[in-house]
Amino acid sequence: MNEIKLFCPASVANVSCGFDVLGFCLEPIGDEMVIRKTSKKGIHIIKIEGQKLPLETQKNVAGVAALALLEDHPCNYGFEIEIYKGIKAGSGIGSSAASSAGAVFGINELMGKPLSRNELIKYAMKGEKLASGSAHADNVSPVLLGGFTLVRCSKTPDIIALPFPSELYATVIHPKIELRTSDARAVLKKKIYLDKAIEQWGNLAALVSGLYTNNFDSIKNSLVDVIIEPHRSALIPGFQELKKVAIESGALGCGISGSGPSVFALSKGHKTALEVQNGMNNTYKKFNIEYELHLSRINPKGIQIISSK
Ligand code: ADP
Repeated sequence: MNEIKLFCPASVANVSCGFDVLGFCLEPIGDEMVIRKTSKKGIHIIKIEGQKLPLETQKNVAGVAALALLEDHPCNYGFEIEIYKGIKAGSGIGSSAASSAGAVFGINELMGKPLSRNELIKYAMKGEKLASGSAHADNVSPVLLGGFTLVRCSKTPDIIALPFPSELYATVIHPKIELRTSDARAVLKKKIYLDKAIEQWGNLAALVSGLYTNNFDSIKNSLVDVIIEPHRSALIPGFQELKKVAIESGALGCGISGSGPSVFALSKGHKTALEVQNGMNNTYKKFNIEYELHLSRINPKGIQIISSK
């Protein structure tokens, strides 16, 4: 195989009570990437369409993640990368993660698959470090493994793929405002109160339990964030209104996707997710902000090969 074309999906990280540890993969939104072997050694990003992003290998998350992989697994040829962005950078639905994960996935395939998808996570995390300053795994893990994932430890890293009910649907709204990850991080408190921590880890454990047992009551009761959302939601115009309409339309829960500005809701069944989408649409029309709305099944597969030759 000399060339591979990939679909690299968007993802939702944090998922209310799972700050920095939970994430899930979306289905209809994503980037495409073409990666091919070249006789010239190294990583060469030759084309980016859909957005203005750096072509320099060291400045692009795809390049940085790919170089990290090649450092541990050197080979006597190089790779050319083309990126067709479908996910806007800084949207909060894993734009950098799609490129980081796509680069290492594609190169691994072209090298004859020496590594598993799980083993690729630590290299994709190097791209995330470039984008946000911290090597977090909560977006790249669901992109590589599909479904819901839990970051038990990001240092090792130790990532657990979680089961989830097939009737679970996500509605995601992306208000097209600029919200820098650094600003979204800056509003967070360095210290948290014990009573809030207890509430949060109770909810996180119940959410994971609900995903394992298809218990929608448990999922609904636990999609609560008492630590991050109270501070961060103020940076997203209309967040409270979106959350209210999502819950009134039947969503199990609604929260900030990644570090925002996207907002996600989870629902049982496509019909409810559609009602949530309509509710969000009618509500956000009144704000003078451009936005995009997406309805998605939880993508069980993650990155997919579109074609290869
Ligand atoms: P998201 O919130 O959608 O996950 P991030 O804020 O994590 O997006 O990442 C976006 C940052 O990463 C931007 O500063 C962008 O310039 C940088 N970046 C570098 N390479 C890429 C790439 N290939 N795709 C997306 N963002 C990239």
